[in-house]
Amino acid sequence: MPNPDNPFLTLAAPQIAGLTPYVPGKPLSELEREHGIREAVKLASNENPLGCGEAAQAAYRDCASELARYPDGGAFALRGAIAEHHGVDPAQVTVGNGSNDVLDLVARTFLQPGVESVFSEHAFAVYPIATQAVGAAARVAPARDFGHDLDAMAALVGERTRVVWIANPNNPTGTWLAAGPLRAFLEGLPAHVVAVVDEAYFEYVAEPDYPDASRWLADFPNLIVTRTFAKVHGLAALRVGYGLSHPAVAELLNRVRHPFNVNAPAQAAAVAALGDRAHVQRSVEHNRAELARVSAGLQALGLDAIPSVCNFVTVDLGRPAGPVDQALLREGVICRAVGNYGLPNHLRISIGLADENDRLLAALDKVLAP
Ligand SMILES: *Cc1c(COP(=O)(O)O)cnc(C)c1O
Repeated sequence: MPNPDNPFLTLAAPQIAGLTPYVPGKPLSELEREHGIREAVKLASNENPLGCGEAAQAAYRDCASELARYPDGGAFALRGAIAEHHGVDPAQVTVGNGSNDVLDLVARTFLQPGVESVFSEHAFAVYPIATQAVGAAARVAPARDFGHDLDAMAALVGERTRVVWIANPNNPTGTWLAAGPLRAFLEGLPAHVVAVVDEAYFEYVAEPDYPDASRWLADFPNLIVTRTFAKVHGLAALRVGYGLSHPAVAELLNRVRHPFNVNAPAQAAAVAALGDRAHVQRSVEHNRAELARVSAGLQALGLDAIPSVCNFVTVDLGRPAGPVDQALLREGVICRAVGNYGLPNHLRISIGLADENDRLLAALDKVLAP
């Protein structure tokens, strides 16, 4: 939480004075430190419970003897691998310190005081933060069934709009947009608006109508698609993600990008991870089975979950989620209450290993008991 008594507040840029920082999931070490709880399970940050693949680990280890060298600032090998993976030109790839970094680059490039960005209610928390940090105004469209209402979003696009943020699927709701409506929305956008389609959970989605927006780059020069290595690839610790766009857009994003924003072990591990399709498939299959099991378990507890296509599920507890989240912490289970997303009664639960999910369901049953 921002401190209103901070003596430097009056020196900060006005948009920073009102900024509420992103709240990350509690690390396991912190729970152990604060509550003396050992063997806690963390189901709070949508990480891959299987970890990263062997190939990525080996590539990471191989960098240990080269740590004195700066990384390749142009990320030649990584951008090449990403370009090949998507069938685009390397000049269309912007690498980021996590895809969060790419979202920030978009904001710094296209937003400023006097212009606006549009996003949905309950959308990913980085969109309002990135917008406000550069002094632009946020226009928030009401959600429909917890997901993005593209008509409501289109209605907010105007002369001042420069960026529209679309999470497909969305965190923390797990909702997704089908190809037809999303394409129609992009077709309706004026040329002075850049559309960001954030596909952080792309690999998990199996719905036949779910689009790969990276295939639309040739049709929409104002489209930016973002992906991350933090979720299905299991490399959240290394912070690496990317944006795909028209080369002219990438050229602008690269003007503000720190030259060494993706470190050398992260670049090497990401190249290996991209080539390790077996690990992606294993991770996706694990998630499919366990998401179904956790969803059924929540239903058996009489709870209403938002149908999710991601590696997490967000459930209505029918009461304020904050105290339940705290009670779960005392049981050694870290989840995420999402009151800051305008969902005060909802708890977001990342899908873990089978025994971790069992612990979550048992702990939830215990703390919800009358
Ligand atoms: C996790 C997440 C990201 C980005 O994660 P990075 O770790 O910064 O790559 C982006 N968008 C959404 C919707 C996410 O949930």
